[in-house]
Amino acid sequence: MWRASIFTLFPGMFPGPLGASLAGEGLSRGVWALETHDIRDHGLGRHRAVDDTPAGGGPGMVIRADVLAAALDSGIAAGDSRPRLLLSPRGPSLRQQRVRSLAQGEGVILICGRFEGVDERIIAARGLEEISIGDYILSGGELAAMILLDACVRLLPGVMGKEASGLEESFESGLLEYPHFTRPREFEGREIPDVLLSGDHARIKAWRDAEALRLTRERRPDLLEADRKTR
Ligand code: SAH
Repeated sequence: MWRASIFTLFPGMFPGPLGASLAGEGLSRGVWALETHDIRDHGLGRHRAVDDTPAGGGPGMVIRADVLAAALDSGIAAGDSRPRLLLSPRGPSLRQQRVRSLAQGEGVILICGRFEGVDERIIAARGLEEISIGDYILSGGELAAMILLDACVRLLPGVMGKEASGLEESFESGLLEYPHFTRPREFEGREIPDVLLSGDHARIKAWRDAEALRLTRERRPDLLEADRKTR
């Protein structure tokens, strides 16, 4: 079973939105499992302190390496080889290719930062890999972890209704996806493109391929460039 272990100061945030819809059904059917570890259980002193002021001064607080190490050491079994991902705006941005490879593995260990982040030393000391979900700053790693999980879980066998629908989507082919239409045939004077109603599957595929390419050229030429470079 694909397993996600989350280290967080806010275990109550999980499963949150992952408890609904397809991910939630997969969770209750045992297609995947989620466990949370409260970093605060390893906090120091009467107040269970997990953070302290930054060395060198400056605003905010930093999660202590010793506290986080104690949490990780008690929560991760020896021999657990799942990737240990630290949600962090400094990591490389998560992309669909990585999502797919994570989904094909045994699961993930996710570490959610808060405040200014974590003491730098924990990264090398516990073999953490930083990963970002995009170039903006969230207030904590929990929502980022949920986004990563949602992207992975929907690819697990038995989570999405139709296996095929995962393959044609944006990014899977290196392109943005073609536009979709459904009934009614005419909506406020706008028609569904004729070709989609023609029943001619070869023409439909050609139209969709051309649209995917056009949209990618217009909106994300960087994707075409990346694709060209990897060939
Ligand atoms: N001071 C840090 C930001 C800390 S934000 C900096 O400037 O780089 C607090 C926590 O939110 C981080 O430790 C991280 O776990 C999470 N976080 C914020 N933005 C994120 C992003 N884009 N991707 C993944 N995690 C993020």
